[in-house]
Amino acid sequence: MKPIARPLPEKIILGNWKMNMTSTEARRWCEEFKQLPAIDNSGLWLGIAPPLTVLAEFRALVADSLLMGAQDCSALGPRGAFTGEVSAELLADAGAEFILLGHSERRRGAAAESNGLVATKLTAVQKAGLLAVLCLGESLKEREAGATESVITTQLQESLALSQRELPLAIAYEPVWAIGTGKTAEPQQISAVHQLIGQQMEGREHRILYGGSVTPANASALLRLEAVDGLLVGGASLNAASFREIVGGV
Ligand code: PEP
Repeated sequence: MKPIARPLPEKIILGNWKMNMTSTEARRWCEEFKQLPAIDNSGLWLGIAPPLTVLAEFRALVADSLLMGAQDCSALGPRGAFTGEVSAELLADAGAEFILLGHSERRRGAAAESNGLVATKLTAVQKAGLLAVLCLGESLKEREAGATESVITTQLQESLALSQRELPLAIAYEPVWAIGTGKTAEPQQISAVHQLIGQQMEGREHRILYGGSVTPANASALLRLEAVDGLLVGGASLNAASFREIVGGV
């Protein structure tokens, strides 16, 4: 198992393939990515969270230039009679280096994950020696009701309740209304939430990423915001050239 490299780099850009990519498509993506101009990744971590079914292809083809992550892990384990579950420890063994936790599609979707469950998963990720990427974000209704600060604060505090303070963490601020909608949050909205998170993370090694309809067209402006340490990219990461272009915005 590889422990998280330290210190964290200045910027982190991660892609989340969600429930996409057959093995043929993943192989094609990796081959195409390798043909694109090389990236100067000093001070930069780049990674993709593929679906579990293509971790092996991904690892074999591009793990020398990209971090590999998982989109979730079990709260149970690290091993045992838990049918259908995959623990952080097993993901680390498969080559994962980071794990997304608390994505809004898990918090608000069929999995209905609570902050308490996310907190348990986060400790499992830390115990496995991987980087936890904790996703937070308010819905449009919550923003319009003026509840953004309290929603983010509650998600952050409760999700970190069991965590080890001395270990580094990445936080991804992803307004739910900006995910997959083509609607990016305004710079001042992003900066305000990132500053709020930054204040609450004081004294802990961390990076704060923004996610929500990031594209090659808006990535460099987002990366120029002072409070933005990186990006979490959904849809646009499915295309190798788009992902490469986003990275070029650093
Ligand atoms: C995401 O799901 O984490 C995400 C940011 O998606 P998209 O970039 O497609 O909005």
